[in-house]
Order: sequence, then C-alpha cells, then structure tokens
Amino acid sequence: PLVLGIESSCDETGVGIVRGTTLLANTVASSMDEHARFGGVVPEVAARAHVQAFGPALHQALAEADITMADVDAIAVTSGPGLAGALMVGISAAKGLALGSGKPLYAVNHLVGHVGAEILDSGRLQTPTVALLVSGGHTSLLLVRDLVDDVVLLGETIDDAAGEAFDKVARLLGLGYPGGPRIQRAAEDGDPTAIRFPRGLSSAKGMRAHPYDFSFSGLKTAVARWVSQAEAAAAGGVPGSVGGDVADTAAAAERAGLPVADIAASFQDAVVDVLITKALRACADLGVPRLLLGGGVIANARLREVAAERCARAGVTLRIPKLSLCTDNGAMIASLGAQLVLAGKPPTGLDFGPDSSLPVTDTYVAPRAD
Ligand code: ATP
Ligand code: MG
Ligand code: FE
Repeated sequence: PLVLGIESSCDETGVGIVRGTTLLANTVASSMDEHARFGGVVPEVAARAHVQAFGPALHQALAEADITMADVDAIAVTSGPGLAGALMVGISAAKGLALGSGKPLYAVNHLVGHVGAEILDSGRLQTPTVALLVSGGHTSLLLVRDLVDDVVLLGETIDDAAGEAFDKVARLLGLGYPGGPRIQRAAEDGDPTAIRFPRGLSSAKGMRAHPYDFSFSGLKTAVARWVSQAEAAAAGGVPGSVGGDVADTAAAAERAGLPVADIAASFQDAVVDVLITKALRACADLGVPRLLLGGGVIANARLREVAAERCARAGVTLRIPKLSLCTDNGAMIASLGAQLVLAGKPPTGLDFGPDSSLPVTDTYVAPRAD
C-alpha cells in the first residue's frame, strides 16, 4: 500500500511516504533552532512552527515521491505520546487531508513508529526484539513480539529523558543547545574514567525494584554539584552560581578552569553505560537475541561504539537504522501505517484526538465499537 505519514509530536514536522516497505519520501522540518535560546523545546513555539511547516513539507514529500494525494491508499498520523498542542497540528492536518481525499486514516503510536523505521531501513523487522528508544522526550525500553499486535513497555525513565539530560548538562557547562552533539564533541578530548558519576537505578536495589526503568535527574544533579564544588574551590571558597545564563556559565566554567572535557566524557559514559546495561539485561532475561535502537540520542558515537561492543560480546544482534530514520520523521509513521493496512486493521476514522500518554500497547487507535 502507498501510505502518507504525518509526524508532529515534538519539534519535527515530518511528512513521509512509503510503498509497503519501501521509502519514497521523508521530509522533515525542525524548529530546534527556535528553542535554542530556551535550552529545550517550548510547546507553544513547536505547535506554531508545525502550522507553518506542514504545507511546504507535504508538497515537498509528494513531489519527491512523484505522486498526488489521489495515489495514496491510506494516511497515518501520530496521535501520541507527545506534546498535546504539537500533536494537534498534525492530527488536524491529517483529518483535513482524509476528509478532502476520502482516504482511510490511522492514528498511530509515535514510539511504535520508531520501531517501524527499521522496516524501511532493512526491509523487515525481525522479531522478537528489544527496542531502546532514546531522545529528548523519551527513554523507553520495549519488547516487540509483533509490531502491530504485540508491543509491551519494559521500562522508561522515571524523570528526565536521556537527551534531556544531555541538554541540561550541556547548559550547565555552557556548551549550548542542543546538548548531545556538543557534549559528544567536548568528550572527545576527555577521560571518561576521570569522574565516577552515578548510574541511576543500577545499584543492586535499584535493579531489583526497577529492573528496566531509567533515571537521569540524579546524574544531572551530581554533575551540577561537582561543577559548583569545583567552582567554589577555584574561587577560594565562594560558591559559584550553577545553572544561570548560558553565557555566564560558560565564562564561569572558564574562570574556574573546569575540566569540561573530562566532565563531558564521564557524564556521557554514565548515560551510555546505564542505557546499554539495562537493554542487554532485558535481552538476557527474556531470551531475546536482538536489540534495535532508535531516537535522536542514537546519533551519539560513544553509544554506538559501546552498544556494538557489548552486543557482540553478548551474542545479541544489534540494529541501528540510519540516522534520518532514527530521529523523529514522517516515514516511520507511514511505515507503521503500511503494516496496519497489510495486517487488515480497520482505520481509526476521524473520532480521535491527541493522547500525550498513549501506551505502547496501543500500537494504533482502533475505531470505536459503536
Ligand atoms: P522525541 O522525544 O519526540 O523523539 P525530540 O525532538 O526530543 O523528540 P530527537 O529530535 O529525536 O528528540 O532528538 C533530539 C535529542 O537528541 C536532543 O536531546 C539532543 O541533545 C540529543 N542528541 C542529538 N545528537 C546527540 C549526540 N550526538 N549525543 C547525544 N545526544 C544527542
Ligand atoms: Mg527533535
Ligand atoms: Fe521520537
């Protein structure tokens, strides 16, 4: 089936087109730059940007795939989880298109969409697989036995998402936004063993109570405390201010002679270590010999390196779709839509709205019974 997918759950406006398992177009516009001065995604700003970006993105995707709306068999749109105001823009656009064209509409799960990206990358999704999805908005560990009918949540972050932690720590170090790539660059000259930062929920007790959950706010606080103590020591006992204006923080970091590279490398390794340890623990516990990665943080070179190393050692097959399919995009949503069509699932119709906390067990929103 020829499926058009629409994504607007966070700061990417994505329109993708697939034919079955084949990617035809994947247009993404990001409002990331507009959020930079706030140090994180501002929901209202993201929603407005989606309204502006959707039209051009749709036209570009149709042109790229060399099709018109008349050729499309079905439309799929992210209905959750995500920012409600941002989701509403994509949903409204999708409903308008469905009404105007008479095409069936599927409301799909964003996280399950990330898993669907793999089908476009390698032509199929091998199951069962554990999937680790890490971005600025989510840190989730899934068990996928069937993309359409059997996805369960093994664990997720109980506070900050991993990407959010990268962004907050980068701000603390005066590196700017988005933090991920900047921390990675700073870490290149650093010693990852220089500072032993905490691995959230990975103590014997944490592992028992939350075997597959993650926590990154304690790590962020530990970095903040370390920085403020180093600054205080440098200033001769006067505590420095932490978490203020980015420019001030950068200057303070410089004045205090902070070992930014060592902090970045040590922080990065703490995040990577706990992510991969828990993912591989799930693989071992469940007897699943496959791990799939997704989300924007997967761009991290150290994460890829450690994942490859440890998966090889554990006899687990590692799959990482290409980066343009890992970050938020419309093609992954279209891919999941195509699988729903192929599985003979009835379309959602027009009776649905944004659901910020749509559970992964709802791979899509089934039509109401009445
Ligand atoms: P969602 O949570 O809905 O998937 P998002 O926009 O928050 O959306 P992405 O766009 O997929 O997430 O990814 C952005 C996040 O990835 C940011 O937090 C950013 O810091 C992080 N990131 C990007 N590159 C890297 C990198 N090289 N290392 C670590 N983190 C990175
Ligand atoms: Mg984003
Ligand atoms: Fe996402």
